[in-house]
Amino acid sequence: RSMIIQGLESAIEQNQLKLFYQTLFKKHSNKTVGAEALLRWQHPTLGNIPPLDIISAAEETGRISVLENWIFRQACLDLPKMKKLFGETFTIGINISGAHLSQANFIDDIKAVLTETHCQPKDIVIELTESVLVSTIKQQQDTLHTMRDLGFTFAIDDFGTGYSSLSYLQRFPLDILKIDRSFLKQIHSADPQQATLTKAIIALGHNLDMKIVAEGVETPAQLDYIRELACDYYQGYLCSEPVNIQNFNAY
Ligand code: C2E
Ligand code: CA
Ligand code: CA
Repeated sequence: RSMIIQGLESAIEQNQLKLFYQTLFKKHSNKTVGAEALLRWQHPTLGNIPPLDIISAAEETGRISVLENWIFRQACLDLPKMKKLFGETFTIGINISGAHLSQANFIDDIKAVLTETHCQPKDIVIELTESVLVSTIKQQQDTLHTMRDLGFTFAIDDFGTGYSSLSYLQRFPLDILKIDRSFLKQIHSADPQQATLTKAIIALGHNLDMKIVAEGVETPAQLDYIRELACDYYQGYLCSEPVNIQNFNAY
């Protein structure tokens, strides 16, 4: 952990961090509609560091805005290449940490990147986990509303993992609900309650005018299963693992 913390500063400076992209498919056409940016760090001695470890190290040491501003900028720089391959309506999902969202210069930093890269907010889906949305304070809520006014789209990430308070759904205009992959894992157990719950989440999202993404589709059986569900998009290792931008040409 201390090696991660120590190495992070120079990793950012020396360009050791990479973004990988995992594509997202429309269910009824199987068309690629977007991708999610996922952080990667091949540490010189520790090997691949899980992104959540990098994020928590950055949060702990006050470097989260430096790190996520780098991520945001890199994703905006990579976007035109993806649009060229997949079309003008292609969107990019960027994960944002709660600690970053609460920083006073968050909006200004993002605006500066948009100006520099000529990216437009409508091309970007901001992914926030349920835990971040549940615990937002007034300042973060204002930030989200300002971003909304700028034209960003929002997704709730890992929906269904551990939070029973749904009141935040009323506080924010959210566009996309990503059902956590744990809901797909248990399809083989033929647990009727699990299926009922998944269907209820999809209905809840649709009634609130959200599009639904099924996360973590790993097997043909899971793909068959989500085809029967009313979800709109899917994402998972079966159809595409997160890849380096160079490997996008292979599609
Ligand atoms: P997440 O946002 O839920 O991202 C999806 C994670 O599930 C990714 O793990 C992805 O590689 C993995 N995944 C995708 N499809 C499948 C599948 O079919 N099966 C399984 N088992 N896993 C699948 P990854 O890249 O290790 O990232 C883990 C988490 O780290 C992310 O979860 C996200 O919360 C966080 N993270 C990654 N990059 C960033 C970032 O740039 N900023 C922030 N704040 N968090 C990030
Ligand atoms: Ca995500
Ligand atoms: Ca997720």
